[in-house]
Amino acid sequence: MGITTSELKQLNCDMVYRMIYENNGITKQMIAKELRFSLPTISQNLGYLLEQDKIHCSSHRAATGGRPAQLYKFNYNSRITISVELLANMLNVAAVNLAGEIIAESSLDLVFTNDPLYFETFSSWVNHFIASLSCRPEQILGITIAIQGVVDADQEHISFGTLLSSSTFVRTDFAQHFQYPVSLIHDAEAAGIAESWHSAPDMNAIYLSLNANLGCAVIVNGQIMRSRHLSSGVMEHLTLYPNGIPCYCGKCGCAESYCSANTLIRKSGLSLPLFFQKVRDKNIKYLPIWQRYLQDLALMIDDVRMVIGGDVIIGGLLTPYLTDEDLDSIKDSVYSLTTFKNADFTISKGKYGKKATLIGTALTRITDYLKEERLVD
Ligand SMILES: [Zn+2]
Repeated sequence: MGITTSELKQLNCDMVYRMIYENNGITKQMIAKELRFSLPTISQNLGYLLEQDKIHCSSHRAATGGRPAQLYKFNYNSRITISVELLANMLNVAAVNLAGEIIAESSLDLVFTNDPLYFETFSSWVNHFIASLSCRPEQILGITIAIQGVVDADQEHISFGTLLSSSTFVRTDFAQHFQYPVSLIHDAEAAGIAESWHSAPDMNAIYLSLNANLGCAVIVNGQIMRSRHLSSGVMEHLTLYPNGIPCYCGKCGCAESYCSANTLIRKSGLSLPLFFQKVRDKNIKYLPIWQRYLQDLALMIDDVRMVIGGDVIIGGLLTPYLTDEDLDSIKDSVYSLTTFKNADFTISKGKYGKKATLIGTALTRITDYLKEERLVD
């Protein structure tokens, strides 16, 4: 079956759009040369893409002088995703563009309660944030909410929400208040998506989110691993010490009770900035707490590496406090613990720190959009 004229026009326009996406800052003549289209055809497509606000045009004068060239660039702000990080006592919201950059953000202290008033307050605040962006409605791809809990395989229900003291709220409790598509994601999984974005296709790694509560995700072949009901796994509930410190999940001795940032706050009685100030001053009361924490983290990493023998990426709240010496200390401890001394691996800090959840939350929608627009395969 042959291709129709309108299909051919669309195909040509898609090719011009992709050329600009892949070569951000390209002239009309360069596009014509690469695609072997006539200049009038290119001009027509550029006109359409400019009208749609999908691309920008700017003048650039070469260092050697001469007439300034018109450079066409991809408009990363043509579509915006709204990411919300829903924590037990706080909300963080961000507007993220197609480059995965946060272009606006805000926070609100709000204790989660599973009742209509909470969902109304939540949506009213998020809608107010969206209005402040002065975007056209069609620019908003949707709203994705990162939950401190495991989202069920149906993407509608919460299968484990003990940190929020509820597992009975559903996606539609939020969605009914918005004119945009709304979806849910497990926060640790979202952070793992950010840290695996643009990674090598053969990357296998464990992502550890050292937040107030510990979060983990598994990256296999450059992609987040998704199992059916436990999302990207719940390694924070691996048993480190049988009959150890009680965990919020109901078990005792989970990694959460030894490797979360809350562990340091609970043991030291100090805020994180003050605790790390004491640690870096080599205070004899607080330094052992940190050293023990690093050893417990190594114990967990060694256990997890028995299944996923890849690298380790560390993100979350503790990232800014971690020094290269700390990372070396964790790695040395893992080597001394492990039976498999020849299995080399790296431990590194993630690129996005505590913003990883908000960015990864948006990337799910951004990736889908880029595929729909045929900008990526
Ligand atoms: Zn647990």
